[in-house]
Amino acid sequence: MAKRVSRKRSPRRSRPAKARPKATPASPKESVTHGIAVGTRRTGGAFRLTYATMFDPPASLHEKFEKALAAVKADLGRDHPMWIGGRERQAADRFEDRSPINAKWVLGTFQKGTAQDVADALAAARAAFPAWSRMKWQERVRLLRKVVAQIEKRVYELSAAVALEVGKNRMEALGDVQEAADLIAYNCDALEKNDGFIRPQGRDPLKGYRATNVSVLRPHGVWVVVSPFNFPMALSGGPAGAALAAGNTVVFKPATDTPWAGALLAQCFRDAGLPDGVFNFVTGPGSVVGEALIVSPRVDGITFTGSYDVGMHIYRTFAGGGYPRPCVAEMGGKNAAMVSRHADLDRAAIGIMRSAFGLQGQKCSACSRVFVERPVRDALVQKLVDLTTKISIGDPTRRENWMGPVINRKAYDDYRAYVEELSRAGTILTGGQQLTKDDLKQGYFCAPTLVDAVPPDHRLWKHEMFLPITMIGAVESLEEAMRRANDVDYGLTAGFYGSKKEAAWFFDNIRVGVAYANRPQGATTGAWPGYQPFGGWKGSGSTGKNTGGPYYLQLYMHEQSRTLIE
Ligand code: NDP
Repeated sequence: MAKRVSRKRSPRRSRPAKARPKATPASPKESVTHGIAVGTRRTGGAFRLTYATMFDPPASLHEKFEKALAAVKADLGRDHPMWIGGRERQAADRFEDRSPINAKWVLGTFQKGTAQDVADALAAARAAFPAWSRMKWQERVRLLRKVVAQIEKRVYELSAAVALEVGKNRMEALGDVQEAADLIAYNCDALEKNDGFIRPQGRDPLKGYRATNVSVLRPHGVWVVVSPFNFPMALSGGPAGAALAAGNTVVFKPATDTPWAGALLAQCFRDAGLPDGVFNFVTGPGSVVGEALIVSPRVDGITFTGSYDVGMHIYRTFAGGGYPRPCVAEMGGKNAAMVSRHADLDRAAIGIMRSAFGLQGQKCSACSRVFVERPVRDALVQKLVDLTTKISIGDPTRRENWMGPVINRKAYDDYRAYVEELSRAGTILTGGQQLTKDDLKQGYFCAPTLVDAVPPDHRLWKHEMFLPITMIGAVESLEEAMRRANDVDYGLTAGFYGSKKEAAWFFDNIRVGVAYANRPQGATTGAWPGYQPFGGWKGSGSTGKNTGGPYYLQLYMHEQSRTLIE
């Protein structure tokens, strides 16, 4: 029953105690029809939550979160079933889910699924596929919009659970849950904008015959969704929503560190009234339940989000089937911020700090490397250290705390090992300690850490640590910064601070799927569906098409060209 003790890092949200510049709201584009308000209004109109607007929420948001948190905390420790073919499923073995904030808090117990449970879930999804895929796409959209409504109805309750389970601060937790709703809505919008992807083609010039040619995108069949611990709502709901909108049926497995978020999301799909077997939920270790899913020939497509090592294992295993099947693998990052001598250093410092330490450095888009031109190196470092030492750390469900714990014991131990290695290779500018004072000792709290002067050939310049540790390197030129930024197997996000002309050069030369310039809200983090489609190049992603963007939903369908001769 011991909770699996391995990677679990936790998030926290953004708010350096001082030096908090006003967040500039993302400028909504007319084409964005989602991005739902979290509840209230502030001067100038409705507050619309995104990762770039979350720094200054209305007071009522805090009140609602606190009320929900109290209710959720009063009801901890339940046993949560799997959900297969429209029925609850228990397993012989269970595992405990404990909070990284305080390892004594048992959040719930969950089923340790088996290969048989996986086989049953796949069979249920297979049985449900014909009716779901033949259903009019408008009807599927109608049902999926009910899922969105379920999530939004419960947004505070779900966010409180995510905060407790992942260790996210309240704004990060609310963002994760709202993003799940927005991603599902985005995929519904995409289906509508493209008229269900049914496209008449030209009539070929046949003498004596009349040809009707149509291109139709059709679903593959049973789609598996495997998600990571750090965004357990958005990175489960988003891919599941896309797969379902496209007409596939789904078997979903959450990370072992975040089964509760998975179960709550599954309830939203269930309560929306999807037909039995369309959405199935299984829990259990990746090595058992995950493996059973990826080796099965009864799977037609998969979306995995997680680490490079597991992602590449899944990608290769999945390719070992009888024929090619789509594998959407979204993997890690080693994201760099580049700072020119012409940069606004205040903006650079706040953007880097937010992206380095938001969610405790456990975002795939976290800023883990900074390359700064030598003439402004000292000034930038001073500002970064000042901001970092002001970060408030503690129970992240409390309003005053911006950083929470890392996800689990393994991440906590890894932090110490990396800090020891880096202190031998370079200079720890600030941080470097596990935090054990008072009630922090019950959880996995680590100080945000800035490291300087590590030789360019050190292995940790290229290795994703996934912790609140950021390395700073002085460079002689932007060309050197660009060469080092690109010299990794990853290609997820990057940030730049400098002149507009330099920014154009940065966009043209950086090899990543998501690039930001001069952004105080986050140097490398904070994408939101409809504003910043999110995905990686190279070892960060298998498709080159980003979620929350115009080319994503098509990944879940294959094309059929239909010709009828009369
Ligand atoms: P992991 O790769 O450890 O786990 C991800 C998921 O894969 C979990 O559900 C895990 O299950 C499952 N899994 C593990 N082994 C197998 C297997 N053999 N077969 C099938 N499934 C398996 O990632 P983390 O949860 O630690 O998440 C952090 C990582 O995710 C980081 O590298 C981060 O960069 C990346 N990430 C990438 C994003 C992107 O969009 N590119 C977004 C968010 C995170 P279990 O937990 O039971 O082991």
